[in-house]
Amino acid sequence: MLSHLLHLEGVESVVVEHRSREYVTHRVRAGVLEQGTVELLHASGLGGRLQREGLVHEGIELRFGRRRHRIAFRDLAGGRTITIYGQQKVVEDLIAARVESGGALYFAASEVRVSGVDTSPRIRFAHAGKEVEVACDFVAGCDGTHGICRTLLPKDTTYVYVHEYPFAWTGVLAAVAPSTDELIYASHDTGFALHSMRSPEVSRLYLQCSPADRLEDWSDDRIWDELHRRLETSDGWTLKEGPIIEKSVTTIRSVVVEPMQHGRLFLAGDAAHVVPPTGAKGLNLALADVRELARALIGWYRTRDSRQLDRYTHDRLERVWQVQHFSSWMTAMLHPVPNDPSGIHRRLQKGELTYLASSRAAQASLAERYVGLASAT
Ligand SMILES: Cc1cc2nc3c(=O)[nH]c(=O)nc-3n(C[C@H](O)[C@H](O)[C@H](O)COP(=O)(O)OP(=O)(O)OC[C@H]3O[C@@H](n4cnc5c(N)ncnc54)[C@H](O)[C@@H]3O)c2cc1C
Repeated sequence: MLSHLLHLEGVESVVVEHRSREYVTHRVRAGVLEQGTVELLHASGLGGRLQREGLVHEGIELRFGRRRHRIAFRDLAGGRTITIYGQQKVVEDLIAARVESGGALYFAASEVRVSGVDTSPRIRFAHAGKEVEVACDFVAGCDGTHGICRTLLPKDTTYVYVHEYPFAWTGVLAAVAPSTDELIYASHDTGFALHSMRSPEVSRLYLQCSPADRLEDWSDDRIWDELHRRLETSDGWTLKEGPIIEKSVTTIRSVVVEPMQHGRLFLAGDAAHVVPPTGAKGLNLALADVRELARALIGWYRTRDSRQLDRYTHDRLERVWQVQHFSSWMTAMLHPVPNDPSGIHRRLQKGELTYLASSRAAQASLAERYVGLASAT
């Protein structure tokens, strides 16, 4: 996205990806786009397929105590909505735009090394049996949570905030039409469950599990049993089953790197911060980072004024911590904690959920943050 935004303003960049094109376009991850993300994709000419295939949702449903409670976004958040469009489709659209523009894009780059980020950065990597070296003005570290760019920040002036949650998510893709028109967030005494979708034919479902669980612990039968238990309501709603076509276990963490820059290196997305997936914010926050970074870099190329670049960390962290708080709050409200001998945590959760179900003010607060705060995206 950053290279695309820069290209639109005539700034040249080189994209170096260590996975293959096949791999990145089949990697199933996020799928909820905030309205600001949708607007960004449209404004930068990437809205064609999104317009045709994206599913606009005007609310979500909360479930607990076998009852449903709708949070109506359009009503509560000034007409704003979310769009369901798989991350791999966003990635495909971005690759297509990059290829069409003729910009440099290397897949399957290996031994990627970055040096000289204080003043004159260089990137070296192996590609198709050859050694490639790129001298550049800036490096954007958009290499995710396991990338190398985060490690280039000086240890003595960088702080990495990390919180590991005491649970994980088993996620499945199932070849079955979604059993719901809108996302369902369910908090059950045996754990959290999320019913989402990727298309009219494919459902995306998640279950809270233990971080110690392995995929083998979750047979298809066990997954469906647990989904039925956590999602079903007393008004007769039922879950449709279908073949499970993908399965994964994801740990849940909050991570923030401060500062997000050093010299001529700028981190964006998961390289700089990881949010729990409950608020569906990871992809949106990553795109919001690069929108800001693109503006600052374009400004620098126009005027050689570095003030906007210098402020990048300051400007982003304000929003990053708000989103981190929202994702953490949603997680804490919906996931029973594994160690709750007196049951007080669960009772407090139910107290909060009951308040949320009955208070328009509380619902509006959730809604405006779920669809993305206007200036935040
Ligand atoms: C299993 C899973 C499920 C998720 N589900 C959701 C969800 O439902 N909702 C949501 O909002 N978010 C979700 N997320 C988070 C969301 O996918 C991320 O927040 C988002 O992808 C961040 O984008 P990014 O570009 O910063 O990082 P990434 O998408 O991780 O991209 C970084 C890229 O850098 C490449 N790379 C890494 N190291 C190097 C290197 N040394 N050299 C070159 N390239 C390198 C990687 O291969 C990768 O393609 C999920 C994440 C995972 C792992």
